[in-house]
Amino acid sequence: MAKTIFVDLTRCTGCRGCQVACKQWKNVPGEATKNWGSHQNPPDLSYQSIRIVRFTEAMLPDKEGKDKLAWLFFPEQCRHCYSAPCKRKADQYDSGAILHDQDTGAVVFTDKIRKVPGDLLRAACPYDIPRAAPDGHGASKCDFCFDRLQNGMLPACVLSCPTGCLEFGEENDMQALAAQRLKKVKKEFPTAYLGDPLNARVLYLYQTDHRLYYQDSAVSNPDNAITTGPRRVDGF
Ligand code: SF4
Ligand code: SF4
Repeated sequence: MAKTIFVDLTRCTGCRGCQVACKQWKNVPGEATKNWGSHQNPPDLSYQSIRIVRFTEAMLPDKEGKDKLAWLFFPEQCRHCYSAPCKRKADQYDSGAILHDQDTGAVVFTDKIRKVPGDLLRAACPYDIPRAAPDGHGASKCDFCFDRLQNGMLPACVLSCPTGCLEFGEENDMQALAAQRLKKVKKEFPTAYLGDPLNARVLYLYQTDHRLYYQDSAVSNPDNAITTGPRRVDGF
């Protein structure tokens, strides 16, 4: 059974522990940053930063229905799609450029990814994830910590998360956990829902419309994200 990361956004504090842990495990340097009007830094994914936490300030209704300023934190990474569009694009250049591991579900760029133009990989991704190499040959993205999984370890981001926002496990277990959490969270946030439960191996629980977090955070319309397709998550 393949794996899933469940991301309960109502539990994310924006601490960026996952962002740092990712850098440490991948052994890639930090980037020089500056205040650009947001606590979100680096300001976007890059070839060196394959995981970032997006920060958004939004006006959301409180329990009395009054608008109140709220933080929305969105830890961003490759979704490890069930049927990966990036792989379909890369296969046109070399079928070995992207490995889709059936045991874990990990979508992994190999050394042959350099045969594929990085910008084409980015354009093929519905979540706008891959970032081109500086010379344009190939791109980088999260690989689910494939090396760690093969050695029975958790992805570095999940291991580092102090709040329980990130959970990792068997797909069915994570789907059940997500349904359970959604049922509970909906009591406080009636507009909460699961984003793209039918096609992504990183399953987000949104407190509110995913477009308020980030425009490309989910593909499904929030009105039908949990009600269509053969893999409906029931129980709420
Ligand atoms: S999220 Fe994008 S980069 Fe990741 S597997 Fe899906 S298409 Fe590929
Ligand atoms: S480590 Fe957990 S709580 Fe901190 S930013 Fe990442 S997902 Fe959010």
